[in-house]
Amino acid sequence: MRYLIFFSKNVFTLFAILVNTYLIICDGKVLSTLLSLNSQSETLPHTLIFISFTTVMRNVIFDDFIQYLIIVLYSVTLFLIFNLTFSDINLYCKLCECIIVIIFLLYQLIESHINCLRSKIIFWRKFSEEQVESNDVDIEKNLSSQFETETEHLIFICEKIKNDIKQASKAIIYKDIKLRLKESISDVMRIKKLIGHGNIGAPVIIENHVKDEEDREFIEQNYREISHSSNGEYKKSTTFINLFDHKSSTLFPDYGLQQLSSVLEGIGKNWSFDIWFVQETTGSSIGIVGQYLFAKFNLKKRFKISEDVLDRYLNSLESHYRDNPYHNACHGADVMHNLMYFVSSTDIQKFLNPIETLACIISGLAHDIGHPGVTSRYLIQTRDPLAIQFNDISVLENMHCAIIYQLLNKAGHNILEKVEADDWTLCRKIIIEMILATDMAKHFEILGRFRARACTLCDLNLDKIDDKILVLATGLKCADIGHSAKYNYLHQKWSGMVMEEFFKQGDLEKSKKLPVSMYCDRITTNIPKSQAGFLKNICLPLYDAWAKYHSMEAITKTLEELRKNIEYWDLNYGNRRSTQPAVTDNVASLKHQESYGGSHA
Ligand SMILES: [Zn+2]
Repeated sequence: MRYLIFFSKNVFTLFAILVNTYLIICDGKVLSTLLSLNSQSETLPHTLIFISFTTVMRNVIFDDFIQYLIIVLYSVTLFLIFNLTFSDINLYCKLCECIIVIIFLLYQLIESHINCLRSKIIFWRKFSEEQVESNDVDIEKNLSSQFETETEHLIFICEKIKNDIKQASKAIIYKDIKLRLKESISDVMRIKKLIGHGNIGAPVIIENHVKDEEDREFIEQNYREISHSSNGEYKKSTTFINLFDHKSSTLFPDYGLQQLSSVLEGIGKNWSFDIWFVQETTGSSIGIVGQYLFAKFNLKKRFKISEDVLDRYLNSLESHYRDNPYHNACHGADVMHNLMYFVSSTDIQKFLNPIETLACIISGLAHDIGHPGVTSRYLIQTRDPLAIQFNDISVLENMHCAIIYQLLNKAGHNILEKVEADDWTLCRKIIIEMILATDMAKHFEILGRFRARACTLCDLNLDKIDDKILVLATGLKCADIGHSAKYNYLHQKWSGMVMEEFFKQGDLEKSKKLPVSMYCDRITTNIPKSQAGFLKNICLPLYDAWAKYHSMEAITKTLEELRKNIEYWDLNYGNRRSTQPAVTDNVASLKHQESYGGSHA
């Protein structure tokens, strides 16, 4: 059928040529000469019919000038030959008839050409109108994302091709071409899906998005490195637990702190949960939060973990955090709370089984364990033994994972001792992938991958373990920079600690006569400017994608807080261009916070 439709025009053209041939040759005055007849009474005067038929043909193939031209040229040539050669009427009449036919067909040809142009103009107008509409949507979509990886860029191009073809298809009337275009759309969609699932660690296009040179330098120094991740097939999880299905009031009878019990209920529920209160009242943060969560999720009973072993392991985790301004045990506990907040206030909780929950808790609590208070870049540049040990690849994050398992191997510390082999392997995979994802050098790569799957392709399936880990890893990344989306008073407190840790690194770099890293010089750094840049360039795109994926008020409100914090720093930056007072004020505000400390993630 499609074949017939495709060749219908050619069949029509052939038909027109045959009919015109008949009309010209079988005309009475031609035929009488050809057959040597004396009378024309037995034949028809066909010139008028020939002209009428050619006019009808113009309407049948109105949009194909070339085919109509073929019919007309053939017909006129044949008409002239037969009429001038064989017609039995006088020469004057012959010439008049030929001129009339030529003028009329010429007029038909011009009309056909004009109609053809008109239909093309209508097509292109319709096409370009729809193109403008879709361009508006594309521009809007583009504005929402400040950074894009090559993967996202390719997906965006595929999306654009799809939209262009769709619009072209709307403006086309031929079904066979429409079918071809439909096939092209499904091909492009297949390519888009392959790109989105391809885990391409393509470089990030930063130059077009960050105008500020210092911010660009800061991103180049801290947020770009070699990618490194693991892949593998693990069995699908089948059993799930209901989060927060235990009464928390009975969780800490030994502490004898009624007030603490009610405060701890805020873990994973109250976004502005104050970890410092827990630290100040108990002298512990990781230990308390860890105990609370293990009890909440009934993990001790589920994995047959004895009280002593859990106590020892959590205490070891806490003691292996160093007393940095920012990357200390409090940061670990706070990030754990942030992660729980994301898990429990979204659909993620429905997809977590006990071993996956256990892996999340270990990852959150220990994600910065042993952090030396300097960046991986500093360790690599100073040829630190840690950088040598981990081959310059995600140095800090590899170290955090290694410490988690070194502690598990210590006598009386192995909380995973009774865990079945498959679960143990799955738990390790989740912990490693989640913690390695917190390497800020892979920030844009992971953000790009998450955004491609969660916001562009919208095909994340939490029943699949790799997709689930991508979501959990992104959740831990959001939790890790969670202070940027906290209420302003909490955010300011954490920001002061981050800057102090940066400045300590700057002091170290100065003492070693190394170039001071961007925003690490306590004399020249403009804190509001650096914070505004960090929040806009790093935090906002991540939280924006996270909020779009979940579309839940609990997450959207964190994005709103983040935007308020950006406004706060912008205002501060505008109010005091002089850098020195900002640093002095900030350092003074840190005097009473010395026991805590830190860096951004
Ligand atoms: Zn961290």
